[in-house]
Amino acid sequence: MPLIYDYYLQTYVANILISVNPYQQIKDLYNSATIKQYQGKSLGVLPPHIFAIADKAYRDMKRLKESQSIIVSGESGAGKTESQKCILRYLTDSFAATNAGPIEQRILETNPILEAFGNAKTLRNNNSSRFGKFVEIHFNNKYQVTGGFVSHYLLEKSRLCRQQRGERNYHIFYQLIAGSDEQLRQQLNLGSPDAYHYLRHGCTQFFCSSTTEKQIDAGRCADLMKKQGAMRDSVVDDYADFQKLKKALTDIGLTSEELLGVFQTVAAVLHLGNVAFVDDIDDTKGGCKVDAASETSLKTAAALLGQEVDELRHGLVSRIMQPTKGGVKGTVIQVPLKTYEAANARDALAKEIYSRMFDEIVYRINKCIPFADSVAYIGVLDIAGFEFFAINSFEQFCINYCNEKLQQFFNDRILKQEQELYDKEGLCVPHIEYADNQDCIDLIETKGAGILDLLDEESKLPRPSAQHFTATVHQKHKDHFRLAIPRKSKLKEHRDIRDDDGFLIRHYAGAVCYQTALFLDKNNDALHDSLEFLMEESRSPFVKALFAPNSPSQLSVLESPSRNGASVAGKKGKLGFVSVGSKFRSQLVSLLEKLQATGTHFVRCAKPNSDMRPKQFEGAQILSQLKCAGMTSVLKLMQQGFPSRTLFADLYNIYSPLLPPELARLDPRLFCKCLFHALGLNDRDYKFGLTKVFFRPGKFAEFDQMLRQD
Ligand code: ATP
Ligand code: MG
Repeated sequence: MPLIYDYYLQTYVANILISVNPYQQIKDLYNSATIKQYQGKSLGVLPPHIFAIADKAYRDMKRLKESQSIIVSGESGAGKTESQKCILRYLTDSFAATNAGPIEQRILETNPILEAFGNAKTLRNNNSSRFGKFVEIHFNNKYQVTGGFVSHYLLEKSRLCRQQRGERNYHIFYQLIAGSDEQLRQQLNLGSPDAYHYLRHGCTQFFCSSTTEKQIDAGRCADLMKKQGAMRDSVVDDYADFQKLKKALTDIGLTSEELLGVFQTVAAVLHLGNVAFVDDIDDTKGGCKVDAASETSLKTAAALLGQEVDELRHGLVSRIMQPTKGGVKGTVIQVPLKTYEAANARDALAKEIYSRMFDEIVYRINKCIPFADSVAYIGVLDIAGFEFFAINSFEQFCINYCNEKLQQFFNDRILKQEQELYDKEGLCVPHIEYADNQDCIDLIETKGAGILDLLDEESKLPRPSAQHFTATVHQKHKDHFRLAIPRKSKLKEHRDIRDDDGFLIRHYAGAVCYQTALFLDKNNDALHDSLEFLMEESRSPFVKALFAPNSPSQLSVLESPSRNGASVAGKKGKLGFVSVGSKFRSQLVSLLEKLQATGTHFVRCAKPNSDMRPKQFEGAQILSQLKCAGMTSVLKLMQQGFPSRTLFADLYNIYSPLLPPELARLDPRLFCKCLFHALGLNDRDYKFGLTKVFFRPGKFAEFDQMLRQD
C-alpha cells in the first residue's frame, strides 16, 4: 500500500523503500507524533515511511544483536541527505538515554557543519552534497544512543577553484561573507562574493529568507543582497546557516581561537585564489612573478595562513627539486615555474588546505561523539548514485566504481537474503540467478592490471601522459567485454587515441564514456614539496596542525575506527603519497567490510523532475533512475518470487476484529488458512511458510481490498 500525499510517493518493493522527493514540506509527515506512531511497528503495518525503515533497523539490531546499515542511494537531488537526516532524527529522538546528555544534539549538529563545508548549489540541487558519508549511530548495552562516527569519501575538490555557470562554491564561503559581523569582516578583509576569483566563475548570489533580510543590518543588506540579487530556497539560508554553524562548531568543542582559525583558513583560500601571475620578463629561465595588482591578496593570504609574504610568493612561483642520477640523489635546486604552473600550484594549495580542513572538521566531530561503550551501531550511507553526463571524468569514474561495488553488495544481499528466507520458511521456491558484475569491478580495481593501478603506474613514469595511460588501458584489456574504445575514435577508424580520448565502460546501469584527459591530475593531487614544507612551518597553529605529518585527522581518513573511536596505526608513512584512486579503493574496502558485517536495509530515492518542482511527476525519468538503481532487475526477480510477506500473527491482529468470532478463536496460522480458503484465493498466489504467509506481487493488496469490501 503506497503512501501517496499529493504527488508524494513512498512504497516498498520487498523491504526496499522507494521514496520520491516531494519537493515540498508535507504537513506532519516527519513530526514527533509521526515518530511515535512508527516506533515498534513492523514494516507494512503503517504506510511506507523512512521512519519504518529506521525502526526496522533498530528492532533488527536489538533482536539479532547485530549492527545494521541503511544504504540510501539515488541521483543528485533525489532526497538522500534529507532521508539520512530523517533517519538520524528518528533514532536520536526515539532511543536517547533517559539521562540524555548533549550527545544526540551533537550528532544532529553534524549536519549543518558538514553541509556548510561539503555542500554547494549545483544545477541539480541547491544543497548538493559534494562528498559521500557513512554516519554511524552507536548504541550501548541498553540499546540507547551513546555516540557516533562519520566517515567521509571523495570531497569534490575541483569545485573550490572553478564551478559551472549557475553553480556555486561550497556554502561556507557565502555564509562567511553574508553572516560575519563587521569586526570579523575587517579581520578577514572580506568583500562581496564577486570580488573573488574562486567564486566568480559560477553564481555569486546568496541564499536568504525574508527574515534574513531583516536580520542583516540595513547597510550590508543593501550592499550584499541587492547587488547579488538573493535567491530563495526553503532549505539553504546563508546568513541564518552561518549563525547555526558557529553554534554547532562551538558545541562540538572548537574554542574561539579554533573557530577563528577555521574562518581565517576559509578566507585565506578566497584571497589565495585572487593571486594572479604574469611572465617575468627579467627572468632568463622563463619564470613568472605575482601580478602587481594582486599583491594585496598575496599579503592577506600570507597573513591568514601564518606565512611570511615573500616565502609564500617564492613557494608559489618556484619549486624545489632533487634530481637523482644512477640512484644517487643530487643537490637540491630551485626551479622557476611558468605562469600556468604557478596558477596550478596556487590551486593545488587552495584545494589541499580546504580538504585538510574538511578532514579536520570531521575528525573533531568524531572526537566529540565518542562511543566507548558501544555494543552495536546503525550506519546510514549517503553517497552519490550512478552518474553519466555529456562529459565524464575521474569523479564519475570513482563514483561509478563505488556504485558497481554497492550494486554487487545489493544483489548479494537482497537476493541471497530473499532465498535464505524462502529456505528458512520451507517455501520450495526455485533458486534465482542474477547478473554478476565482478568482471567490471576487476577491470577497475585488480592489483597490477586494473585501471586504478595503471593510472598510478602512469604517474610514476618520467613523462606521464593521458594518451599513454589510455592506450595502456586498451592494450591491457583488449578483448574485455566491459571495455571499449569510445565511438569518436571508432569513427576515426581506430587511428591513434588522442589525449582527449578515453574509454567506455559497460557498467551494470549502462555504458559510460570517460574522458581521460584530466585523470592523472585528479588522481595525483599532491602539493609540491616547497609548499608542503611551508605549510608545515606555518605560524598559525590551526594551519600548522592541518599539515603536521601523520596528523590524526589525516590518518583517520584512511582507516576505520576501532571500537573506542581511536584510529588503528597509520598506513601512510611520512610524506608517503597515496593517490586519490587508491585511497578511495581502500576506503571502499573498509566500507564494504563494514556493510558485510551488518544487517542491511535499502532506500532508493528518486527525483520526480529536473526542475526541482513539487507536483510534477515525470514517469520516464523516474523509470530510468529505478533502472540505474538495479530496481527493475529486483522487480523481475520478485515477480518470480513472493515479495510481500506478513506474519500470521499480524494478519490475525488486523483482520480478526473484522470477522465473525468463530474464526477469531482459531490460532493465527489456521485462521489465515481458513480465511484464504473462504475468500477463494488462488493457491498459486500465496504460500504458507512456518511463521509467515507470502504473496505473489500485487496479491496482498487484492486480498486486503476483498476483506475491506466484504
Ligand atoms: P545530492 O546527491 O545532490 O546531495 P540528495 O539526493 O542528497 O542530492 P537532498 O539534498 O536530500 O538530495 O534533496 C534535495 C532537495 O529536495 C532538498 O534540499 C529539499 O528541498 C528537497 N527534499 C528532499 N527530500 C525531501 C522531503 N522528504 N520532503 C521535502 N523536501 C525534500
Ligand atoms: Mg545530498
